[in-house]
Amino acid sequence: MHDPRLREMSDPEERLRTYRAKRDFSITGEPAGSAARSPSRRFVVQRHRARRRHYDLRLEVDGVLASWAVPKGPTLDPAAKQLAVHVEDHPIEYFNFEGVIPKGQYGGGDVIVWDWGTWHPVRTDDPARAIERGELHFDLDGEKLAGRFVLVRRDRDRSGKEQWLLLHKHDDHARAGWDPEDHPRSVKSGRTNDEVAAAPDALWRSDLPAADAAVRLGGPTRSWDPTTPEELSILDELGAGGRWLFQGHEVKLTNLDKVLFPARDGGSPVTKRDLVRYHATVAPYMLPYLADRPVNMHRYPDGVERPGFWHKEVPSHAPEWLTRWRNAEADPGETECYASSTACPPSCGWRTTAPWSCTRGRRASPTCTSPLGPSST
Ligand code: MN
Repeated sequence: MHDPRLREMSDPEERLRTYRAKRDFSITGEPAGSAARSPSRRFVVQRHRARRRHYDLRLEVDGVLASWAVPKGPTLDPAAKQLAVHVEDHPIEYFNFEGVIPKGQYGGGDVIVWDWGTWHPVRTDDPARAIERGELHFDLDGEKLAGRFVLVRRDRDRSGKEQWLLLHKHDDHARAGWDPEDHPRSVKSGRTNDEVAAAPDALWRSDLPAADAAVRLGGPTRSWDPTTPEELSILDELGAGGRWLFQGHEVKLTNLDKVLFPARDGGSPVTKRDLVRYHATVAPYMLPYLADRPVNMHRYPDGVERPGFWHKEVPSHAPEWLTRWRNAEADPGETECYASSTACPPSCGWRTTAPWSCTRGRRASPTCTSPLGPSST
């Protein structure tokens, strides 16, 4: 027979009661949370600068986010044993939260989505029970973190909070000396905590679904600086290729004189350089409408008279600043890792950019209609 206490603890509504009790949702912009059950196992690590800076490791368990605050952050270094304070479960809606928690509120400070992906419990198919018993072995498949981790309960601090240790096993993903502080950018927006703290309103947009309206903080929409004449003249002066600094990003360009569109009567052919110049020029006007949408690109690398193809998976050589979205619901063989449009990837000869009708991680919630690309509804 089950211990009725354990059953009560694994009831998501029950487990969220502590979380709700600590927050006044009429002031804070955080989601109040419903405990919808989901079979998926996502994880998120949020870098949170509150009274003290720490990383919150959250594992989706039975419809809520089981959570540990890790002061030094999770690491791939198998020699490190990190303190991880077990804190109250968080609602599943918190998974995507990136922004500012008002000062004076519980956890007041700034939060970025430092890593996310999927996780799998090891040696148990009842992770809630493993957590109750004080030892959980699990694999992470994130954008920064990967491989086998262990959480084990050691002690309680003076306030009664459980102190656990978080460690990484010696496996193919282990990296000696790996420091989370060397990888400071959000996997959701590409921004740092400083950047989010300086302009938190930009992350919350008026066209999000109603269910997310409560997390909106208001304020101006994110904007992009216009491309400068200097940037364009440097592009024109590049030979057949080279490195181009555009909007603070270094871009490697090749075959700039390749003809992509043949000349029409009396005109000149359109080269890859022309196409890059065009995209760089329109990007600041286009991106506010496309921001954070996964992108499918219809590419014609040998010009429009040769067959093209749809490019969806982010290539391994793509620059680090390109924001990625991992589709945790991908079927076998389906694209898993997409670029999302927070910046222009101008190095390939593409003709059509087909952004999704939903933003990242919100497949069931399209926020605009055709001519954009897929969502599941
Ligand atoms: Mn926290």
